[in-house]
Amino acid sequence: MEVQEVEIPKCEPGDVLIKVAYAGICGTDLHAYKGEYSRTKFPVVLGHELSGVITAVGEGVTKFKVGDRVTCESTYKPCGTCRYCKKKEYNLCGHRIGIGTNKDGAFEEYMTMQEDRVWKLPDNVSLRSAAISEPLACATHSVMEIGNVQAGETVVVFGAGAIGLMVAQVAVAVGATVILAGLTIDEPRFGIAKEMGVQRCVDQMKEDLVEVVMSMTDGGADVAVECSGAVPAFAKAFDVLHKGGRIIQMGLFKGDSIPMPWEKVVQNEISILGSRSQKPSSWQKAMDLFASGKIVPEKAVTMEVPVEEWKEAFDTPPSGKKFIKFDDFGE
Ligand SMILES: [Zn+2]
Ligand SMILES: [Zn+2]
Repeated sequence: MEVQEVEIPKCEPGDVLIKVAYAGICGTDLHAYKGEYSRTKFPVVLGHELSGVITAVGEGVTKFKVGDRVTCESTYKPCGTCRYCKKKEYNLCGHRIGIGTNKDGAFEEYMTMQEDRVWKLPDNVSLRSAAISEPLACATHSVMEIGNVQAGETVVVFGAGAIGLMVAQVAVAVGATVILAGLTIDEPRFGIAKEMGVQRCVDQMKEDLVEVVMSMTDGGADVAVECSGAVPAFAKAFDVLHKGGRIIQMGLFKGDSIPMPWEKVVQNEISILGSRSQKPSSWQKAMDLFASGKIVPEKAVTMEVPVEEWKEAFDTPPSGKKFIKFDDFGE
C-alpha cells in the first residue's frame, strides 16, 4: 500500500465528485491492508467512511450542487434488481459495487459517488463528525431497525470500539439505559462513553457484569448488542438478559462455527438477530439523529493524521476510531 498521484476521477452520469475532507479507518480497511479481506478487489483505493464537499456534478444530477457538504453510503451501485435491492436493502445485495472494495474509495483527494447514495449534511454537523456517519448508520440499523430498541429498555453493549461506542450512543439517544461492557484496556473509552451519556461502564476484568446488570434491572437486560466478535462475550450475552430478551450480533467471529447454548435459547426464549452494515433507511435515521444534536460521534475520534502518514495510523493498534485527514476546509 502506498500514496500515489492519480488522475481526478471523472463523473459518470448521475455521479457527483466529492473532495474528501476526512476519512475514517474501519476494521475492514485494516483487514484489507493485511490481505485478510477477500471482498477487496485490488488495485483499489480503500476507505468507505468519509465526509467532504462536492466540487463537480455529472450529467443528470439534480439533488446536489457544487459546495454542498456531504457524506455517503458505502454502496456506490447496488445491482438494483435482486429481491433485496427492490426493498432498498442494499446491505444484503450480493452484487453491489462498494467503495473501498471494488470501486475506488475514500482515501483519495477526490472520489466519485452516485448522487442517490449521497447525503447532504445538516448544518450543525462538522465535517470531522460526519466522517463517522457510516459506523453511525450501522448503529442505527442495529439498534433501531434490527433491535427495535425502545425508550426505557436496558441495553448491554459488548465491545468499546468504534462500533460499540456508536451503538451505545444511539441506544442512549432512543432513551434506553446503556451498560457498556469492556476490558481494562478500554478504560480511556469508558470516559468517552460516559460523556456520551452511557449510564454504566463495566471493566469485566474487575467487576462481575452479570451482578451489575442484575442490580440495575428486574431480572436482566432487554437487549445485548455484541460488537466485539469475541466468543466469550457472545456466551456472556445469554446471562445478562431476562427471559424473552434479544441478542443483536454485529461482531464477526474468526471461526466459522462457535458454541451455541441452545438450552438457553429455548428455555429462555432468546432471539438472536444478525445486523450487517447499513441501508438507506439507516442513513436517514443517522442524519435525523445528527440534526437533532443528540449524537456527537466526533467524541469517538482518537487519532488524526495527514494522508501521507497513513502507515502510522494503520500500524497503530486499533483503539476506537482513526482518521485520515485530507483538508480541513477551514474547520
Ligand atoms: Zn466501516
Ligand atoms: Zn441487488
